Amino acid sequence: MIPFNFEYYKPETVDEAVKLYIELNTKGKKPLYYGGGTEIISMARAYNVYTEAVIDIKGIPECNVQELRDNKLVIGSAVTLTQIAEANLFPVLGLTVQRIADHTIQDKITLGGNIAGTIIYREAVLPLLISNSEVIIGSLNGRKQVLLSDVFDGRIKLEEGEFIVNVIIDNRFLSLPYLHVKRTKSDKIDYPLITLAALKDNNRINIAFSGVCSYPFRSSLIEDYLNDKSLPANEKINNAINNIPDSILSDLAGSDSFRKFMLQRMLTEVLDKLEG
Ligand SMILES: Cc1cc2nc3c(=O)[nH]c(=O)nc-3n(C[C@H](O)[C@H](O)[C@H](O)COP(=O)(O)OP(=O)(O)OC[C@H]3O[C@@H](n4cnc5c(N)ncnc54)[C@H](O)[C@@H]3O)c2cc1C
Repeated sequence: MIPFNFEYYKPETVDEAVKLYIELNTKGKKPLYYGGGTEIISMARAYNVYTEAVIDIKGIPECNVQELRDNKLVIGSAVTLTQIAEANLFPVLGLTVQRIADHTIQDKITLGGNIAGTIIYREAVLPLLISNSEVIIGSLNGRKQVLLSDVFDGRIKLEEGEFIVNVIIDNRFLSLPYLHVKRTKSDKIDYPLITLAALKDNNRINIAFSGVCSYPFRSSLIEDYLNDKSLPANEKINNAINNIPDSILSDLAGSDSFRKFMLQRMLTEVLDKLEG
């Protein structure tokens, strides 16, 4: 049971949603945009989140599209992981979302909720980072279209009242060779020990990680080491691992040294499969 009451709104346009947010925020209601609600509800039950109003974005048609338009794949932020996997228009994203939670929950979790959620893994972000995706953000001044990597620094940086409307991926990335590897502590369905997603683009490997640090990331330095044709595989991998941008996670799922060991094996697989 959720130990507090909150109001529920379901706007039909982006502008209406943003205005509603500002209005509710001014009234001190601590509004939250609501996608699948899986995180909001589970955290509210434990009183780890408090709100007096949620704004469900599933009533906004733009947030529900999943289509190829002008050589781009456009996916609305309210599209569920199940819908993404079933459409499978971007295979590395399709594979990634099929390994997040289980089938029942994938039917609820939305792309926007996974990108903006507070969980450290946010695995759906990985294919978007390696394909130089853009996001359309709804704000008080209308919509803005920006590179995800420009607004994603460990987590998505949104101004007060802003929310993710769409994600846009250039067609050219949809058919590139790819690899998705998720390793968990024991069960197939679990939070990742490490997940990586990689694409081979113009003879270079683009790669992003979840579970290595306390946020998902793509690093140009790591990519430069992995793509350095002058080095043998083991040196590329050691250089990459020595340049992880933050401290490596160490928790009940696995120590930092175990994660390093796992990463070494996973990167070997990446080079074996994508380098040739
Ligand atoms: C049992 C279980 C296992 C899971 N395992 C994994 C896993 O292994 N890997 C993984 O990555 N995830 C996993 N998840 C998913 C993750 O924990 C979140 O529950 C999920 O990503 C939230 O998505 P949602 O659509 O339900 O978001 P919501 O609960 O609706 O919202 C989450 C947050 O995002 C904000 N938000 C939602 N939509 C938008 C938007 N369009 N724009 C801006 N802000 C928005 C909300 O205000 C809220 O702060 C798991 C979840 C469960 C329940």
